[in-house]
Amino acid sequence: MSDAAVYRTDLVFQAHYLAEALNDAGIQSYVENENCMLGFGEVGLFPVHVRIRDRERLSAANRIVEELLRSLPESGVTVDAAPWKCACGQSIGAQFTACWNCGAERAGLA
Ligand SMILES: [Zn+2]
Repeated sequence: MSDAAVYRTDLVFQAHYLAEALNDAGIQSYVENENCMLGFGEVGLFPVHVRIRDRERLSAANRIVEELLRSLPESGVTVDAAPWKCACGQSIGAQFTACWNCGAERAGLA
């Protein structure tokens, strides 16, 4: 079992909210890069990633995240950003860091 990034954000509270919701939905998830945020308060200088433990659940996780973000208009998400295209041909919303079709991570992300 390998893990996968589901969502990337500068908002730590939002990352926790999403990770918690995913855990509630039975998809094990966690927030990465938190240690970088110490001392910077709620909005940090470094983005954090919401990751899931099981890459197999990626498409289910992305659906949950997308729904949650739609219900959070104040979440600061740039839903207008242009989607990216995966190598497999799938068009992916800009807020996602991995392809829900084949599981590949978006190229060019740290
Ligand atoms: Zn793909």
